[in-house]
Amino acid sequence: MTNTLHLDKRQRAMLAEMGVRVWSPMSEAAVMGAPAVETLVVDTSAASASSLPADVVMQAHAEEAHSFAAASELATQAIANAAGVDTATRQMPAPVAKVEPIPLIIQRPEGIDQMDWSVLHSTVSGCQACTLCGSRKNTVFGVGASAAEGKAPQVDWLIVGEAPGENEDVQGEPFVGQAGKLLDNMLGAMTLSRTGERTAEGGGVYIANVLKCRPPGNRNPKPEEVAQCLPYLERQVALLKPKMILAMGRFAVQALLRDTVPEVETTPLGKLRGRVYQYQNLPVVVTYHPAYVLRNLPEKSKVWADLCLAMAHIKGSE
Ligand code: URA
Repeated sequence: MTNTLHLDKRQRAMLAEMGVRVWSPMSEAAVMGAPAVETLVVDTSAASASSLPADVVMQAHAEEAHSFAAASELATQAIANAAGVDTATRQMPAPVAKVEPIPLIIQRPEGIDQMDWSVLHSTVSGCQACTLCGSRKNTVFGVGASAAEGKAPQVDWLIVGEAPGENEDVQGEPFVGQAGKLLDNMLGAMTLSRTGERTAEGGGVYIANVLKCRPPGNRNPKPEEVAQCLPYLERQVALLKPKMILAMGRFAVQALLRDTVPEVETTPLGKLRGRVYQYQNLPVVVTYHPAYVLRNLPEKSKVWADLCLAMAHIKGSE
């Protein structure tokens, strides 16, 4: 089962990693006097369409991310063809859109749970643990009160959102678009700010997301992306040790509460509001995502009620 494709050396090396063998048959083409073409062949003895491992582990370098994405697409095409997908139209461009992409999991750095703040930050900056590294402009680690070199900021509040959007991807900072303006206004109403320090009266905020890279087109995070990225947030929480975690929106809520709240995945966020949960023995309050509030302005008062619950909890625990 073959498909004619033009591949460079690096793409071929990556395809080989994925169990896709590439060869250049001189035979027929040469005999017929036609220019030789490179042919992509699925080596079904190594990885058949039905048994290609979902957790193919690859090492790729940052500068290869775009080639990697292209190679992955080529592999997907070839495997689909090998599986007999759309064989009637083999002469047409391969119908990539109809083929479910094969999840490729690239190795995540080890020892995240031991890293200090600056190592964690630089590890996130170079992370290639999922395919989002191929499309991001910047990683978005987080923003908050300043801190001594290598130390996590001292904050009372950790605000957790979903993932960077377009503006955040460009600027490398969370919540800088319209939703961010609303978040800043909410913080202002609590006499807090995104970069304000912790004082004797309290305060100090850190803002981070579940995903550190932007999903293309602002689509929802995929489960495998959350799984790969979550250890970074886990470590951020462990180092920040905030007095309160505010989980904004269902992706933040599910990521933080999936081990402690049964059926968190299927429970509407509105039904989870109004009580204090635990994550790493730290209190968590659930509220709507600011982007949702912008589309549903009457819900603003509920967010304010959630913030009041969180503030009262911090006060009560002091
Ligand atoms: N929405 C989020 O959840 N996070 C951001 O950083 C921006 C928008």
